[in-house]
Amino acid sequence: MSPQYAPNSTKTFRSFRFSRLYVERDARAYPLAEQVPAGLDGLPLVEIDHYKDVFNRPGQDFQVQKRAPALILAVERGNYLYRAGERVCGCDAPLPVYYNDMVRNCLYNCDYCFLQGMHDSAHCVLFVNTEDFVAAARRTADRGEITLSVSYLTDLLAFEPLFGLCGVWIDAAESHPSLRIEIRTKSNNYRAIRSRAPAPSTLLSFSISPEPARKRYEPGCAGLRNRLFAAREAQRDGMRVGLCFDPILPVSDWRAAYDECIAETFRTLDPERIEEATLGVFRAAPDFLKRMRRSRSDTDVLHAPYVVQHEPEGGAVATHPPELREALVEHVSARLSEHLPPDRIHPIHG
Ligand code: SF4
Repeated sequence: MSPQYAPNSTKTFRSFRFSRLYVERDARAYPLAEQVPAGLDGLPLVEIDHYKDVFNRPGQDFQVQKRAPALILAVERGNYLYRAGERVCGCDAPLPVYYNDMVRNCLYNCDYCFLQGMHDSAHCVLFVNTEDFVAAARRTADRGEITLSVSYLTDLLAFEPLFGLCGVWIDAAESHPSLRIEIRTKSNNYRAIRSRAPAPSTLLSFSISPEPARKRYEPGCAGLRNRLFAAREAQRDGMRVGLCFDPILPVSDWRAAYDECIAETFRTLDPERIEEATLGVFRAAPDFLKRMRRSRSDTDVLHAPYVVQHEPEGGAVATHPPELREALVEHVSARLSEHLPPDRIHPIHG
């Protein structure tokens, strides 16, 4: 079955603010490479041989580029699916969890985002050979049930009016008995996928932060109230809805901020129909954190006194000292447990 992309092909999306469009020669044959430029209303288009010619150029400045990023349409030639570790999924995740990266980088620019440590470039890459990503997920699901996180490395729902990829993945999951997907978002773009509701194989997970933390560290993302309204609409349509408190942000007076935020969340949403709440604290690979700090001196969230924790199986992670980590997780867990049973609250290893 060919993917059905966004229904908005006659609309244009100036709000995406891309400065330029690069298209790999090999990408031009794919439907998305026609649909996306049509939505960008005459944006200058430059044909290139390979996305890495632009994306991997030396001497790029992530934050400078972020003010006016380019969009690159490319073909992925082999890496369609990755197995996720414990830091991606909740400790109690019942199925093997995978993720993919059909989109590199994000519409948003959260202060704490690890993408600024992962990529030299802030340009967005969209891999247009969606069928190959879907086929890889289906092949893996043929061997047993899996959960696929389609927005671990971007906010796919934020791009939905232009790319339409959440719709493609919802359809793919609905048509395969062993494929479940998770769409995690800081947008309120639920209406862009509403026609697919109730979509029982999809978990729509809204990232939640107190409004003062959202304003300070998640500029451009939907406000708390708008995310909650979108989540409520999704619940009423019968979608499976989850919540994600990750990272829990120790803003000033953070206990009161999270108390108010969680109270507002459960004033707006039906707790009976919250499938799960995941929670975690800031964590990053130490070399990513170094690059993130070099990239940004303008945010305290990257310059907190993190400690490097070495893991028994090798590897290391930079995160809060243990006392703060435990205080953050315990406090938010305790507030959540006033509304949700323990088996629906999933801390993520930090
Ligand atoms: S929404 Fe997620 S992926 Fe996008 S910038 Fe924020 S943290 Fe990064």
